[in-house]
Amino acid sequence: MHYGRKLNPENHTGTPPWGPGRPGWHIECSVMSSRYLGRQFDIHGGGRDLIFPHHENEIAQSEAYFGVKPWVKYWIHVGYLTIRGEKMSKSLGNIIPVHEVLSKYEPEVLRLYLLSTHYRSQLDFTWEGLEHTKSVMKRMENLVKLVKAYLEELEPPSRIPDNVGKTIEELERLRTGFFNALDDDFNTTKAMPYLHKFISLANKSLMGKPEYPIVVKVYEILQDFNRVLGVLDKYLQPPLTPSENLVRELVKIIVEVRQIHRRRRDYEVADWIRSELSKLGIKLIDKKDKTIWIIEG
Ligand SMILES: [Zn+2]
Repeated sequence: MHYGRKLNPENHTGTPPWGPGRPGWHIECSVMSSRYLGRQFDIHGGGRDLIFPHHENEIAQSEAYFGVKPWVKYWIHVGYLTIRGEKMSKSLGNIIPVHEVLSKYEPEVLRLYLLSTHYRSQLDFTWEGLEHTKSVMKRMENLVKLVKAYLEELEPPSRIPDNVGKTIEELERLRTGFFNALDDDFNTTKAMPYLHKFISLANKSLMGKPEYPIVVKVYEILQDFNRVLGVLDKYLQPPLTPSENLVRELVKIIVEVRQIHRRRRDYEVADWIRSELSKLGIKLIDKKDKTIWIIEG
């Protein structure tokens, strides 16, 4: 690459040809981005305070130098992260480092929290906001676990039951609403209510004796949502370690032993097993002829 040589402002005497001083910040960004992304590229990001003069300078000098227009196809300018209304910045000394947040919350919670505000809007950081997002995450995680448990236990029906159409339509409508909002300049703020409504409707539809096609639909939509949100990876594709697998097999045996007791109408032992498992965070859901179980986080 020749940019380094061409744009090097200093001659060997250390004095730039145009007199004292040197081009700094603006040209650095032009050089760095084109060095790695080429003469023209798709997306350039930055804080909204950089629109002028910084990005305007970058555009002027890069388009002149490369003879292209536009140099960048899309500019994505993000809003400020503030704390108690003040811009979070090192110089003000009011920053909360990411590692401090991650020592208290899962990275997925922080990710979902940041996504809940539209990227161009100002986000006022609060611990309460994170706490609220944590509860949303928990609901989503438990929903995924429940759906996966059903998928393992339920048998696909030979024909699609008549009564599932309306629910599936409604679930689809929420998926469409979510993606339409994102198509509108990544409007995550507008998309989130669809996600919340989806979680509620999915939970409601899975109560009692859920229909297999609904379970499959809920799972499919959760996967679609997660392709954008990226917060459910470890629940949607759990790589089971040998010891996790062993736990799974052991729980299956315990649940089967409890079934034997129930069939013999020995409810005292059956209830004891249920309550002991519950203390370990393993929840049993009794169906007519089988029991499914989930490990609640
Ligand atoms: Zn820059």
